[in-house]
Amino acid sequence: MATTVRTLQNFIGGDWVESTGEHVRQIVSPVTGQTIAEVPDASAQDVSRAARAAREAQPSWAALSAWDRAKICHAIADLIDERRDDMARELTLEQGKPFTAEAIPDLEETAENFRIAAEDVKRLESPIIPSQDVNKRILTFRKPNGVYAGITPWNFPTLIPVELIAPGIAAGNTIVMKPSEWTPIAMATFMQAMADAGLPDGVVNVVYGAGEVGERLITDENVDCVGFIGSHTTAEKIVRAAGLKRSLIEASGNGPVIVCEDADLEVAAKGAVFGGFFCAGQVCCATERVLVDQSAHDEFLAAVVAEAERWRLGDPYDDDTLVGPMNNEPTAQKMDSHLEDAVNKGAEIVLGGSRDSGRPTNLYYQPTVVDRVGTDTLINHDETFGPIVPVIAVDGDDQALHVANDSYLGLQAAVYTRSLRRAFRYVDSLQVGNVVVNDSTDYWEAHEPFGGAAGTRTGWGRIGGRYTMLDMTDLRTVVIDAGLD
Ligand code: ADP
Repeated sequence: MATTVRTLQNFIGGDWVESTGEHVRQIVSPVTGQTIAEVPDASAQDVSRAARAAREAQPSWAALSAWDRAKICHAIADLIDERRDDMARELTLEQGKPFTAEAIPDLEETAENFRIAAEDVKRLESPIIPSQDVNKRILTFRKPNGVYAGITPWNFPTLIPVELIAPGIAAGNTIVMKPSEWTPIAMATFMQAMADAGLPDGVVNVVYGAGEVGERLITDENVDCVGFIGSHTTAEKIVRAAGLKRSLIEASGNGPVIVCEDADLEVAAKGAVFGGFFCAGQVCCATERVLVDQSAHDEFLAAVVAEAERWRLGDPYDDDTLVGPMNNEPTAQKMDSHLEDAVNKGAEIVLGGSRDSGRPTNLYYQPTVVDRVGTDTLINHDETFGPIVPVIAVDGDDQALHVANDSYLGLQAAVYTRSLRRAFRYVDSLQVGNVVVNDSTDYWEAHEPFGGAAGTRTGWGRIGGRYTMLDMTDLRTVVIDAGLD
């Protein structure tokens, strides 16, 4: 694999523009440990230039017909498909996810998001409302919200940005993306594909940097709204900085998997392990804890271990690798500290439990199963974000519900049961935005509404297909006096 070190440039108003910022970040591959890019942070001037470019492009972009914008979205999807393998190879090198099992599907779904947005925008209907006055006609139109700042994380470096970009631009918004400082290369390559497919200048712009650049972007006078996907601590800062600007926020989860005494334990074990290890557990809807009824505990744990042993850690370019390196050291350290805390409080490591030695980097974490996890642990309360299946035994549905809901991160839960009645009791009582019955917490489809529950700190709005498009547009109400009498 060629490891030439590129220097990334911001993308502003249709051109790659050298950054005027002074601080330069080295992007080091979690797979090989080699430096693969140098990325200067955008300066204040770069950020305001990008926001101005998005502002200038927005009216004429919004004035195109939905069909014209849709045509460009389809062209982008086709070009991503054409470049899929190269983009996926680079994604693996920068992010660490397995090439065949995950990077290729990420790119396919990135393209699919543009197709969904292209077709949704053609059917973005809005109501005509009866009037009290016989002379009046009340119509509504969906209008784009204007210029968005898109602030995104490193676990899905094309797939999460596209969840904002595709519905956002299809509906007539323009956007300035600030990708994660850990994975800027994927965004640069993705941007190139959008530009090559014929996206007009200024519709999508990209600036690089970390929190400081993000905050500058959010507060820029030319940015109207914010789309954010990342951790809940950052979400709180973003919301404070954004003030009254419109926002779409999707933050951390603490996905409980609930395994009832009547569950199909083989199916539950497969789902819990998939949710624990997919993307090395670095997913907002990952299996963060498994609440298993104590009567099913021993059989379930044995099934989990048998399944977990199939998940081979290794070189993410090998076809049979299912777990690659974690993306970055702070996240791996969080996994270290959560495990240590659980063990100190009586948990027992059944499989894995540490970083794997003899690898090109120290980020290859052994897929880990840990049993007897207490409810007083960091694992139970916070998001671990690593390749881990933590098992907590509970005594019946009431206790499972209590432990599941004793959380400030109510994003997604999974429930395994053969009883529809029981499943719906959980569906109705869990304080989460999304419940999956008899499949993994990581089950999602690109067009389904996905997001947090009110009353928890997981954000608001919905990511996914037309639901994001509804969040990124608003109704313009028009009252017409038809002068009939
Ligand atoms: P994750 O660890 O999942 O990437 P973070 O919340 O740390 O989650 O980061 C998500 C995105 O938010 C990244 O692009 C990051 O640079 C950005 N970010 C971090 N802090 C701030 C901030 N104060 N204002 C705006 N953006 C920020």
